[in-house]
Amino acid sequence: MNTIIEPFRIKMTEPLPTPSKKQRIAALKKAHSNVFLLDAEDCSIDLLTDSGTGAMSTKQWAAMMLGDESYAGSSSWKKFYATVHDITGFKHILPTHQGRAAESILATTRLKKGDIIPNNSHFDTTRANIEFVGAQAHDLLCDEGLQNNLDAPFKGNMDLNKLESCIHNYGAKRIPFVMLTITNNTGGGQPVSLQNMREVKHLCSKHAIPLFIDACRYAENAFFIKQREKGYADKSLKAIAKEMFSLADGATMSLKKDGLVNIGGFLACNNDQWAQDFKNLLILKEGFPTYGGLAGRDLEAAAVGLMEALELEYQEYRHATVTYVAKALDTLSIPYVRPAGGHAIFIDAKAFLPHIPPLAYPGIGLVNTLYTEGGIRGVELGSVMFGKIDKKGNEIPAPLELVRLAFPRRVYTQSHFDYILETLDTVWKKRDKIGGYKITYQPTFLRHFTCHFKKIP
Ligand SMILES: *Cc1c(COP(=O)(O)O)cnc(C)c1O
Repeated sequence: MNTIIEPFRIKMTEPLPTPSKKQRIAALKKAHSNVFLLDAEDCSIDLLTDSGTGAMSTKQWAAMMLGDESYAGSSSWKKFYATVHDITGFKHILPTHQGRAAESILATTRLKKGDIIPNNSHFDTTRANIEFVGAQAHDLLCDEGLQNNLDAPFKGNMDLNKLESCIHNYGAKRIPFVMLTITNNTGGGQPVSLQNMREVKHLCSKHAIPLFIDACRYAENAFFIKQREKGYADKSLKAIAKEMFSLADGATMSLKKDGLVNIGGFLACNNDQWAQDFKNLLILKEGFPTYGGLAGRDLEAAAVGLMEALELEYQEYRHATVTYVAKALDTLSIPYVRPAGGHAIFIDAKAFLPHIPPLAYPGIGLVNTLYTEGGIRGVELGSVMFGKIDKKGNEIPAPLELVRLAFPRRVYTQSHFDYILETLDTVWKKRDKIGGYKITYQPTFLRHFTCHFKKIP
């Protein structure tokens, strides 16, 4: 059989909201033209994020009933520890309520003002946590990753020359650790090869710099390695994941991605002293080290989900969905980041709306039109999210203007995706009429979440 089918059937349904176009226009106005401020019930298809939006399996729901809610040393914690340890090999594992809590503990305990943290591309919360403690987040993505139209297998790789000059320029002492984001969410959900990981690790070891993995989509990355990297076709996803983690000194993880749960995260490492520092802050900020801001039932569901994400059938289905959408976009000539990543399609808003300059936020123009046309909620990954303000107060645009349509795990069916494609086609045909935006309110950090926009007339 050539048809890849969903490796599950549906046992419980949830009604889909269907606001009219008039209602959508009114809702967006009320949300200050920022889709983050829309009510979920105003969205028909919610592709804002794949984070915590997935559907759990029967095995996960059943596991939740086994949740041991003891404050310390619960049996749920033991299952969680055993699973994460089995996959990652890390000695110390600290549960957190989300990935960003793990990042915050890592940044607060390991960084000081003036430190430099290189990454292939920092995710927004990672960057914000690093900058919050006065350190600098540097993106050292390979050049291939910056070319939207280039079809290359591992566009999430770190540029080793850039890393070498970064270490040379700032000195290893100012670099408490290097990070690799797997897959590279910000750069289009693109994978990092094991070869690149080994080379990064080698360079880090030479300068005695620890390596941390931002492991949110470790299972999708393992699937790409199996498909694309020489020598891995016959390896299991779990074996590949183990090899990835064996190269790192620690990891941060959002279980809301490849943990296949709705909330959770962890911070892991091998170093005893770091673990002690992490634990002290964890107790202050999150909770006792055997639950860390999560219920016992959450730990149970995550322990099952982490293994389900490594099932080949599941990854084949997930990638088939992304490929299905990508092929349809090819037919419609809609520009997107190639090849399609693991968890989303990233539409190239700069190419889609070339008449809108970066600082009039073409991504916002596209996101807002997708919402008013079809009730589809996507997210801008461009100058609003990643733009910078220089010393003179000028806004510097981001290198890429993307709109991410993230696919929640095991949630939408193929006809939902056909509807998304039809909406995209409608918006594409009227692209000349789409205009830019200006920001009328913004906070200091992570502005995209809460800022207000106004259409430029
Ligand atoms: C989602 C995500 C995070 C942050 O995790 P949260 O659970 O949302 O706090 C960090 N890095 C990457 C790559 C992510 O995708």
